[in-house]
Formats: sequence, structure tokens, C-alpha cells
Amino acid sequence: MIFQFKRWCAVVGLCALSFPAFAQNDDAFVEANLLSVLYHELGHAIIDVMGLPVFGQEEDAADVASILLINDLFDEEVATRIAYDAAFGFLGEARAKDGEQEAWWDVHGPDLQRFYTLVCLFAGADFEARDDIARDLGLPDDRMDTCEEEFELAYDSWGPVFDELAEEAPGQSLIFDGGATSFTDRLVAGEVAALNEDFVFPQFITIRVDTCDEPNAFYDPQRVEIVVCAEFEAWLRELPVPG
Ligand SMILES: [Zn+2]
Repeated sequence: MIFQFKRWCAVVGLCALSFPAFAQNDDAFVEANLLSVLYHELGHAIIDVMGLPVFGQEEDAADVASILLINDLFDEEVATRIAYDAAFGFLGEARAKDGEQEAWWDVHGPDLQRFYTLVCLFAGADFEARDDIARDLGLPDDRMDTCEEEFELAYDSWGPVFDELAEEAPGQSLIFDGGATSFTDRLVAGEVAALNEDFVFPQFITIRVDTCDEPNAFYDPQRVEIVVCAEFEAWLRELPVPG
């Protein structure tokens, strides 16, 4: 998928920050992780509203959609910044568990595996330019060997779907339902407007910012609605990210 105009900054925080001040729990870190999670939930929503087959764990497919959107929607500098911060988000989440037994039964992959897959696919999208990123983030050579192929497979799977959704753009098929005051409200509202420029979905999908008593986000197929919990932002700010 090739967008004519790649976004050179995201909505709230990234525009003001210079590269490469990575991974502090500042607005840019929170923004990158909220975007990464929002794109993951959008992956679930697309699978649902387009009736896509999923051969494997849907959670993995949603992670892959998120990485591809980060790669596709932003220019190199911003995409790299988001990828680093989202990768550090997984590391922070692993660290926050502080020796807790990994929930092997969970539908999501372990945080560290999600971290390495994000790094591998993002680097695999343009390995000549991004192999340093993979090395910087500690991706072992054994995994490095397959990143380009992994990206190609991911792109062959999601690329035609994104292309189809982009065909009739711009549109108004994403509906924002939230306030106008919090950082999360402003970020999600801006992102909904930006995504409506790029995609038209076959059904209306609501993206709601609301309290849910947990730092989370989810897709509800009954309501065709993504909920970004208002509690997520504060949790991301406190995440023990490697410094
Ligand atoms: Zn998910």
C-alpha cells in the first residue's frame, strides 16, 4: 500500500520532539503506544467487518496489522520513533510483571515475543535501511535472517486488504465517540480523522474513549466498536520502560 502523502507527524506529541530521544514516558511514548494499540484493535475490527480468514492466532494477526500501519502511514523518522516506543512498551509491560509467571494460557503472545516480532517486521520492511534498528534493539541474527521474508508474507496478507479499504477514501466510516479534553481524547479524535482520510470501511466502526476500570483497549464485535480505556494513558506514563 502506498499512500501519496505519508504523515510526517502524528497528532499530539510526536511533532514537537526531535529524533532520537527514545523511550521516556513522555507524551510521544504514550502517543506511540496508544497508536500501536489502536491499530491493533483496528486489525481486529477489519478482520471482523471484512470477514477475513485468520490462519493462526488472531492476536498475532492484529499485531501484524498494527506494525504494517505504522510502517505505511508515517514517514521514516516518525515511523521509526513509533516503532521504538511501541517496542519499548512491550519491554516495559514485561518488566512491570516483575517475575510474575507468564500467562501462557493467554490469547496474546508473551510480551517479549511481541517485542521481537515488532522489531523484526518493522526492520524487515526495509532491511537495508533498518537493519541497524534491529541490531540496536537486540534482535538476534537467527531471527534477523527471516525478517524480510516475514514482512513480505505479512504484506502479501494485509496489503491487499488495506488497498481495498483505501480505494474509496476519503470517507467518514470511523466514528469518534469521546470527549475533547484528555490527551487520549484528542489523540484518538485526531487519529479517527486521519484514518478517515486513508480508509473507508464497509461498516461504520465506532472508536470510543471511555472509562473501563482497567488500562486496556478492546474491540467489541457485537457493537462494532473499539474502546480505548481512559485509564490506559496513566498506566503508560508509569510503565517501567528501559532507559
Ligand atoms: Zn487483540
